[in-house]
Amino acid sequence: MTRAFFLMVEGSQIDWGGHAQNIEYVVTEMMDLDNAIGVAANFASGNKNTLIVVTADHETGGIALTGGSMTDHKVEVKFTDGDHTAVMVPIFSFGPGAEKFSGIHDNTFFYEEFLNLMKIQLSQPVK
Ligand SMILES: [Zn+2]
Repeated sequence: MTRAFFLMVEGSQIDWGGHAQNIEYVVTEMMDLDNAIGVAANFASGNKNTLIVVTADHETGGIALTGGSMTDHKVEVKFTDGDHTAVMVPIFSFGPGAEKFSGIHDNTFFYEEFLNLMKIQLSQPVK
């Protein structure tokens, strides 16, 4: 019998760095999240029935790229805000069902799609 599971990993301190308008904090937390995604990708490479979806529920800080150099591998940024913003966030997905997780959606979209994908029917829908 194959058992399905759902694992959510949140890089929550990326948000904290955005609130603090601290780019070093944001970048180091992004690197930690990237490492976690790497662990998940390694798992998925040996478990072909694994779907990985990476997204965010919002952007924080209104980070704007204001300059930098491709040859020096440096970017300059400024924060335009200290709170959550309305900037659209990307969705990256890999594995079976990944085609459903792309494009532009309200963040409540994921709830229904994950239930459908895992063939879960709730007797009382969660509102
Ligand atoms: Zn926040």
